[in-house]
Amino acid sequence: MATKEKAKRNVQRKRKPKILAVINDACTGCGGSPICVTECPVDLCMYEVENPDAPAFNRVHVDPLLCIGCKKCITKGPMDTLLEGCPWDAIDMLPLDAYEAEFGTLPY
Ligand code: SF4
Ligand code: SF4
Repeated sequence: MATKEKAKRNVQRKRKPKILAVINDACTGCGGSPICVTECPVDLCMYEVENPDAPAFNRVHVDPLLCIGCKKCITKGPMDTLLEGCPWDAIDMLPLDAYEAEFGTLPY
């Protein structure tokens, strides 16, 4: 999807999504050019943070209050189609109840 040419969403959504993106330990930060960030349609939802395990590289974090669960950041599409997201399988889509059980209830 050509999200680069489109204006990104920049407001917090009103309802909780059914699924949320969570970055796992496979994230390499894409060497400073994160593919996932360019695919995400929500402004500031995905951003680079320091990687304590590899200080020379960053990794990406997802803001759970901005993620809409659209899956544009992952490569796995329906029926095994490939999407233009993370090539390293570094993003898990967690159901909301599993997310809140692990990370706490989202405050809205
Ligand atoms: S699921 Fe959608 S909104 Fe959430 S981080 Fe991925 S691309 Fe962004
Ligand atoms: S989540 Fe995937 S696409 Fe995004 S920075 Fe990490 S390795 Fe790259």
